[in-house]
Amino acid sequence: MALPKKRTSRSKRGMRRSHDRVAAPNTVYCQCKEATLPHRICSSCGVYKGEQRLIVREADAAK
Ligand SMILES: [Zn+2]
Repeated sequence: MALPKKRTSRSKRGMRRSHDRVAAPNTVYCQCKEATLPHRICSSCGVYKGEQRLIVREADAAK
């Protein structure tokens, strides 16, 4: 197995890990003013691209 000749410095390790974070999910605002994920049906009103795609029951919407 390949073995590193030198221990990676704190600086180099940090430089590598600077790209490791998970990107925050993008938010898009629905016509019902609710923040949702892009290219997804709105979980609070069930509308996608201005079209009603899901019937959201009151019990589910309250959660
Ligand atoms: Zn909505």
